[in-house]
Amino acid sequence: MAGWAPPQLEDFILTERLGSGTYATVFKAYRKKDVREVVAIKCVSKKSLNKASVENLLTEIEILKTIRHPHIVELKDFQWNKDYIYLIMEFCAGGDLSRFIHARRILPEKVARIFLQQLACALKFLHDKNISHLDLKPQNILLSSLDKPHLKLADFGFAQHMSPRDEKHVLRGSPLYMAPEMVCNRQYDARVDLWSVGVILYEAVFGRPPFASKSFTELEEKIRSNQPIELPSRPRLSLECRDLLQRLLKRDPQQRLSFQEFFAHPFVDMEHMPGLESLGKASSLVTEAIKKDQEGDAAAALSLYSRALEYFVPALRYEVDVRRKEAIRSKRCPGISLASTLHWKWRRPLLLRRRRAKMTAKPLISTSRAWGSCCSC
Ligand code: ADP
Ligand code: MG
Repeated sequence: MAGWAPPQLEDFILTERLGSGTYATVFKAYRKKDVREVVAIKCVSKKSLNKASVENLLTEIEILKTIRHPHIVELKDFQWNKDYIYLIMEFCAGGDLSRFIHARRILPEKVARIFLQQLACALKFLHDKNISHLDLKPQNILLSSLDKPHLKLADFGFAQHMSPRDEKHVLRGSPLYMAPEMVCNRQYDARVDLWSVGVILYEAVFGRPPFASKSFTELEEKIRSNQPIELPSRPRLSLECRDLLQRLLKRDPQQRLSFQEFFAHPFVDMEHMPGLESLGKASSLVTEAIKKDQEGDAAAALSLYSRALEYFVPALRYEVDVRRKEAIRSKRCPGISLASTLHWKWRRPLLLRRRRAKMTAKPLISTSRAWGSCCSC
């Protein structure tokens, strides 16, 4: 193309193209100085920008600059020259979620749930700041690496500060992931992001989005229909997962679950998501359990112990340090070995007592299973 200059930045060596979207091409790059830091640079050709795109980009820059969150792509810097605007971002070596899902056809529910919890964590952070994303889709969700994927929300080109009751009238996003009210009424609020989360979870577990179509006419028909979204019967999913999908994918935003209901939903269960505090919470519950044990209150000790395990499992997932992970896994961690002692001390007598009282021992068994499964993670 005559007069076309490839993107160039003085301090960086641009290498492979990572992807491109509506307005931009993203390259992997190395900083020339220091330790050759790897970054991703989003290059937006000024020629491609009309007024709306400039506004979208400036919004992205404004938002990203103020945000630091483990599940949101970090904007390190931005620069511009006469041809391009450059966003210098942290590099996500795992590519985007769309590629991740399609390379595997579908994701196991357990994996989809971990991603969903991380996405919920980013959305909670944004929601508390009255920010909506408005273009949530697997292509805009990146993964930190492939061997230990950590989800990172990206592409805030459309995002804007939106108070829960603010309504917008501009058509934004991608039709496959767009809430029906966005397409049909062009009037919408922050709840459109929850619809998109439903579509993303649906695609993760079923391998295609609910409105997947062969033509635009078919897609439009599906979006405009009044039929409730039906979930395929296969693969088999937990009741919690199906329930969440059905509540997110309500065509009528008034019937869709609210953000608070989403964050508290048992399938999202943000309280027990792997995090910095998981091990601390587990340990303090164990301390309480030991106290109850010493006081001879078996039922309370066992219940506290079970609750502690619900934090130990995510603590193990969260831990990246191999030795510390191994310490938790092999129960060498002081808290967990005491918890195990309590478990074996109280489990049999309690089960017997419960059986005698014709009570079910289900919660205890399911917790033990959770513990069993965490050892393989
Ligand atoms: P657009 O606004 O044009 O949609 P995006 O920010 O979504 O641009 O980037 C387009 C694609 O480039 C993404 O879908 C992803 O595959 C890739 N990409 C973007 N940012 C990064 C990054 N920080 N690390 C790795 N790949 C990225
Ligand atoms: Mg994008």
